[in-house]
Amino acid sequence: MNAMTSPVLVEATNVHKSFGAKEVLSGINLTVHEGEVMCLIGPSGSGKSTLLRCINHLESLNSGTIVVDGRIVGYERKNNVLVELHPTAIAAQRASIGMVFQHFNLFPHMTVMENIIEAPRGVRGESRGVVVPRARQLLAEVGLEDFADSYPGRLSGGQQQRVAIVRALAMEPRLMLFDEPTSALDPELVGDVLQVMKRLASSGMTMIVVTHEIAFARDVADTVVFMDGGAIVEAGTPSEVIENPQHPRTREFLSQVR
Ligand code: ADP
Ligand code: MG
Repeated sequence: MNAMTSPVLVEATNVHKSFGAKEVLSGINLTVHEGEVMCLIGPSGSGKSTLLRCINHLESLNSGTIVVDGRIVGYERKNNVLVELHPTAIAAQRASIGMVFQHFNLFPHMTVMENIIEAPRGVRGESRGVVVPRARQLLAEVGLEDFADSYPGRLSGGQQQRVAIVRALAMEPRLMLFDEPTSALDPELVGDVLQVMKRLASSGMTMIVVTHEIAFARDVADTVVFMDGGAIVEAGTPSEVIENPQHPRTREFLSQVR
């Protein structure tokens, strides 16, 4: 199936975000379809992480809207005015969006299993009987079935990142956001994590991936978006943006990271 003809899952419209006087996102428009893998590339400071954080409502917007799965992220419409949702409603909305960070952010005092089942139990109120088998299945799929009772500190960075991915997937998200998931890893550990992400992409998961792994973007992405200075400079298929970049800034960036 071609993801580009599937229904729209994420729609960002004229998103503006400033920190103080500094505008970090200056009018972002973005559409992601169900099952699409979008790779966001661009220099440091171009606003990639901020955009992901806005999609997950870890940051609020100055203007514009982001709709995920038919709902305006972080807001509801009351008498045609956007009103920020109550934190518990935001948490419920966020539950359908998985996020994986550069630094895995696992809870060090909890075992791998406890890390994975914490949100399904706490946020979704699922019983251990339901969520533990799901967690074991997901761990097996990333080759970590023997590590359920280990503490994160005993695992390599690559293993910890795979646990972080499983922890996000245990919430059965509609959308997965990855923010440079392999940037903090030793080079020899990057491949295993990319492999897990590749399999997830083939399974039909909708994914937005901020990455400097240009080969991954070329092989796995349906769409590549190049950001610079808080704006989308160029977007298209990998063959358009990576193999035949039109904009000089895209060319310059690619020549630096390859
Ligand atoms: P990228 O992920 O592309 O490297 P970021 O989205 O992290 O870029 O950052 C974009 C710009 O916003 C940078 O100039 C950064 O310093 C600034 N920025 C990000 N988060 C904050 C914040 N919480 N407060 C102030 N400035 C921020
Ligand atoms: Mg970033």
